[in-house]
Amino acid sequence: MEASCGSKPPTCRVAVVGAHRQRVAKIVALLRDNELRESIATITLACTTTQSSTAADTAAVPTDNIHAVLKGLPVKVNIEYFPCIATFDAYDDECGGSVRYLVKLEYHGPSGTLVRGKSLAPLFDDINRASTDDDDGDKNPFPGISAVAVGCGIEDDDDVERIRCFFEACSSANISDGRGGTIIGCVKPNPPYASIKEENEAFRRLSENEREEAISNGTFGPKKMVNFVHDIAKRAIRQRWEKEFKEFEEMFVRKERLIHFATDEASFADDVTIPGKSQCTLEHAPNPQLVRYACKRCRTALFAEDELEYPPHCQSLHNFRRKMHKVGHGSAVGSCQNHFIAQPLPWMDGCPGVEGKLHCPKCRTKVGHYSWTGAQCSCGTWVTPAIMIPLSKVDEMRPASSQNVMVSTYH
Ligand SMILES: [Zn+2]
Ligand SMILES: [Zn+2]
Repeated sequence: MEASCGSKPPTCRVAVVGAHRQRVAKIVALLRDNELRESIATITLACTTTQSSTAADTAAVPTDNIHAVLKGLPVKVNIEYFPCIATFDAYDDECGGSVRYLVKLEYHGPSGTLVRGKSLAPLFDDINRASTDDDDGDKNPFPGISAVAVGCGIEDDDDVERIRCFFEACSSANISDGRGGTIIGCVKPNPPYASIKEENEAFRRLSENEREEAISNGTFGPKKMVNFVHDIAKRAIRQRWEKEFKEFEEMFVRKERLIHFATDEASFADDVTIPGKSQCTLEHAPNPQLVRYACKRCRTALFAEDELEYPPHCQSLHNFRRKMHKVGHGSAVGSCQNHFIAQPLPWMDGCPGVEGKLHCPKCRTKVGHYSWTGAQCSCGTWVTPAIMIPLSKVDEMRPASSQNVMVSTYH
């Protein structure tokens, strides 16, 4: 699906600001290490507040009409992170008081490894360009820096305010389109701690097991900052199209009163057959001239080869991460064991929610699942969004007229 999308997704720039270059560099490295942090499917931002959100919050969003309402929006937005270091100093005023000020705030290269910082000014050049509205009308929805996440040694409210003033000065040329300005936020300590410093001290007192747990839960340390930065990015993207998202949500609320969602996915075991709604069996006739794939259990044709993602994803683009290791090392791992469908088919009920299971429209057997935020194929490649049907769930049916002809043009 990703590849079939004609226009390039826009990029939202997010500054990661801290006092310690190495720490900022580490955060950005962690963000880059996870494809899920490098782009956001806009659909996942519907029905979320501007606060941080989890997939569970959005699990019940129906998407059958989402594209109609959100049609002006790109399917996804890429996020580019800019590691920045803020340096503060103080001088004594005539009354003997100390006045703290921001000496400089500089960009340290894409990975934060540049020892000498550079000016952020060039990043704001496109604000002026955007305001003159180049004739093609294809202006960047995210000029300048859209969001600033502060942490890594900076947590004082006044320092955050100084950083806010800095970015405001950079972008003052244009915050006029009513879409809201740059979002800025500073990572906060978990209760009951009064400061990140205090939180870090408590962290050091934990046992090794507790520490490991806190790290993997993202409640402490770098992962916490990583999640924070990503949430700030989501808020900036959501803010950009707040009106459209609100419109969709109002429609959703109205719809919800009419539609009864019969299935609570979580309460059903993997292969359980669920009672079907009559409108589920929406007529869908995969092209019989092509190779078709049928439900293994009831032989209903579910899709044809022209409904698969095209071009197919490149195999084994990404390594499996630690948590994937338990999948095993059978022959299945490493080769593609899934079909990816280009877009929701009529029998998929519009793929409601961020992710969910796919059931055969006739016999209701689980045949696959979908995730608008993407999923990893057995070969290792992330496919975003993913409407995924394991090869094992379907039988291939060759066109009756050409039993002996090689027809597999799509794989
Ligand atoms: Zn694959
Ligand atoms: Zn079936």
